[in-house]
Amino acid sequence: MTGTAPAPFTADDYRARMARAAREAAEAGLAGLLVAPGPDLVWLTGYAPTAATERLTLLVLAAGRDPVLVVPTLEAPDAAKAAGAPALSLRDWTDGKDPYAVAAALLDAGGRFGISDNAWAMHLLSLQKALPGASYASLTQVLPMLRAVKDAAELELMAAAGAAADRAFEEIRRVPFAGRRETEVGADLADLLRRFGHSQVDFTIVASGPNGANPHHEVGDRVIEHGDMVVLDFGGLKDGYGSDTSRTVHVGEPTEEERRVHDLVREAQEAGFRAVRPGVACQEIDRAARAVIADAGYGPYFIHRTGHGIGVTTHEPPYMIEGEEQPLVPGMCFSVEPGVYLPGRFGVRIEDIVTVTEGGGRRLNYTTRELVIVD
Ligand code: ZN
Ligand code: ZN
Ligand code: ZN
Repeated sequence: MTGTAPAPFTADDYRARMARAAREAAEAGLAGLLVAPGPDLVWLTGYAPTAATERLTLLVLAAGRDPVLVVPTLEAPDAAKAAGAPALSLRDWTDGKDPYAVAAALLDAGGRFGISDNAWAMHLLSLQKALPGASYASLTQVLPMLRAVKDAAELELMAAAGAAADRAFEEIRRVPFAGRRETEVGADLADLLRRFGHSQVDFTIVASGPNGANPHHEVGDRVIEHGDMVVLDFGGLKDGYGSDTSRTVHVGEPTEEERRVHDLVREAQEAGFRAVRPGVACQEIDRAARAVIADAGYGPYFIHRTGHGIGVTTHEPPYMIEGEEQPLVPGMCFSVEPGVYLPGRFGVRIEDIVTVTEGGGRRLNYTTRELVIVD
């Protein structure tokens, strides 16, 4: 992630986000939050330093105090340009000074703090040394829902990212598959995502034939053949918000079994989507999709969770998985992506991003979920 997010958010939006984060931290029994460069910092302040470095940049949110961004002096001018900068104060430090002492002075010496998952270990270790009486917890563990519920402006950006990914699929389904390497089709997908406005491509999975049976396969040198099922799963960030969609296509006419498995996954995806409504636990989405596949006898071949949250990153809480009791709330966005993986043969995955509405769910992907035949 580079540059300052071009999102249409104002200093007041960021002020409200930081206030809510500080309040939720206090409610969770924390003395505050320590936010390193990365998705949490972007969401809270609009500030995305060009690179996280060994120089400490840290947003300190503590209940009852104004937000403070500890920042290296040479990066302070960039930080001051962030859309959220008017909602916080900058505390800069110059090379040769101890930035951990600067941060420690802002913190309750005996407090417990939530710290960004992606904070560097060297920064946390130095903070522990500066404040030996404080303790620390992973931010996504203590506040997993911090970024989960999107407001109207965020939902518009999510929908636009989804529409861009859909346009990429509409183009890729018209290119020749047979005789080309997975890497070539993957490169086409990445180009299309960028052409339709993505600034960052996170993944372009092209898993053909037996490779499709491995959900972790990305792209390889395999030459796609007539008769292959091909799992396509691609996404990234457009204007700071994520896309992630999967479609499984077939090169030429499918066999009866291939069609049947594809229909099954499509039904499972539909069942997962139909289960979406406010108040329902995340695990119910997984159960609804999984039941369809299990009832058809393919349960052992659906080997991953049904979905994951998405927002300023392409994978984040909440997770649609057995045991996740978090209730759905309008504005949450996540994937519904069941699959069936037949070892050594082929795989099928169908994925849409869905948002929770007052009355149910709304898809953010609209390309056909019927089996598409490609050349
Ligand atoms: Zn086939
Ligand atoms: Zn995906
Ligand atoms: Zn996904």
